[in-house]
Amino acid sequence: MNMQSSYPEIREAVRTLCARYPGEYWRALDRERGYPTEFVQELTEAGFLAALIPEEHGGAGLPLGAAAAILEEIARSGGNPAACHAQMYTMGTVLRHGSDAQKAHYLPAIARGDLRLQAFGVTEPGAGTDTTNIRTFARRAGDRYVVSGQKVWISRAQHSDLLLLLARTTPRDQVARRTEGLSVFLVDLRTAVGNGLTIRPVRTMMNHHSTELFFDDLEIPANSLIGEEGKGFRYILDGMNAERILIAAECLGDARWFIARACDYAREREVFGRPIGMNQGVQFPIARCHAETEAASLMVDRAVALFDAGARCGAEANMAKLLAADASWHAADMCLQTHGGFGFAEDMDIERKFRETRLYQVAPISTNLILAYLAEHELGLPRSY
Ligand SMILES: Cc1cc2nc3c(=O)[nH]c(=O)nc-3n(C[C@H](O)[C@H](O)[C@H](O)COP(=O)(O)OP(=O)(O)OC[C@H]3O[C@@H](n4cnc5c(N)ncnc54)[C@H](O)[C@@H]3O)c2cc1C
Repeated sequence: MNMQSSYPEIREAVRTLCARYPGEYWRALDRERGYPTEFVQELTEAGFLAALIPEEHGGAGLPLGAAAAILEEIARSGGNPAACHAQMYTMGTVLRHGSDAQKAHYLPAIARGDLRLQAFGVTEPGAGTDTTNIRTFARRAGDRYVVSGQKVWISRAQHSDLLLLLARTTPRDQVARRTEGLSVFLVDLRTAVGNGLTIRPVRTMMNHHSTELFFDDLEIPANSLIGEEGKGFRYILDGMNAERILIAAECLGDARWFIARACDYAREREVFGRPIGMNQGVQFPIARCHAETEAASLMVDRAVALFDAGARCGAEANMAKLLAADASWHAADMCLQTHGGFGFAEDMDIERKFRETRLYQVAPISTNLILAYLAEHELGLPRSY
């Protein structure tokens, strides 16, 4: 069974929910850079955002394929799953590496929607993709850590109760390997903001709720540490396959939305006395995008199947993200072109989705870095950076 037809009941339920949040809803939020509070609330209450939390911790205990189906359907309905996708997978670090006490304290509350874990703080202005070069430092002081430094592009920090934070706990020049000496913390934003943490929104080309974080001697309890001190880089890497596969599923949803909209318009719009879709110059780009999307979908299916079987899937997760992001970006461009001038009109939603899907060429990992990974780890070429 391919992913597009997997989990039909979940897909139908997500589609029904999304139908209550049509284009006007997302357009109005886009204009004001507003947060889809009601939509996220409804998804949470329906249990969709707790899909991956095991049943023993109050979630649905579903496989990654189900989470991928949920996010794909949101994107395919014209909505923007970026408002909430992190709530699904960020908890994976707590689940895999947290203590029993942390899991018991946080996971059921996250599953119920009482606590939002929507923010994931890795990127820094001075380090970029070179994560081991981050400077944010957490210094141990008795029963606390004192955090100082700066993060950028931290999405949804103003719509989250908790932040999963990566910080250095041993300076880079004092560790044998640069991947050592980094640690992960679960920071309670409700008490941190105003007490050493300042959050500043960054306005972006799409509605993404990204922020800059400034840590100025923020004190957090020592039990905010997840797992062992110094092993945080590995913990963050562990979560990346799930994130990449889920974002790839969103890209498939976007691509399928663009293709469906282009087909509808090409059938209806008449120029020179016939539907524009009769012209091969119009239908071939749509057909090519369809082929590209279906091929990317097969790679997403493969990555999901490996992930859900507990097998290694680094290459497949990366290829799924690369191919699906390319498919959605090509479909976005094709859809805009198919609509001619009308594609630029706000109320068609195409220019909004076009801006939204462009992000996935850069985040959460840029295309070049995926290619560098494949070259080095799959093809045995020399490391290029
Ligand atoms: C809207 C948005 C939301 C985000 N949300 C989050 C979030 O919630 N949490 C978080 O931690 N981060 C977040 N990010 C950060 C995102 O993960 C990074 O932007 C992304 O990983 C790229 O890093 P960078 O922007 O620092 O680019 P840089 O690392 O500065 O790279 C710039 C360009 O150079 C290229 N490049 C760099 N090094 C190489 C190399 N060795 N070989 C070839 N090309 C190279 C890159 O591909 C890129 O195109 C978000 C970013 C955006 C834009």
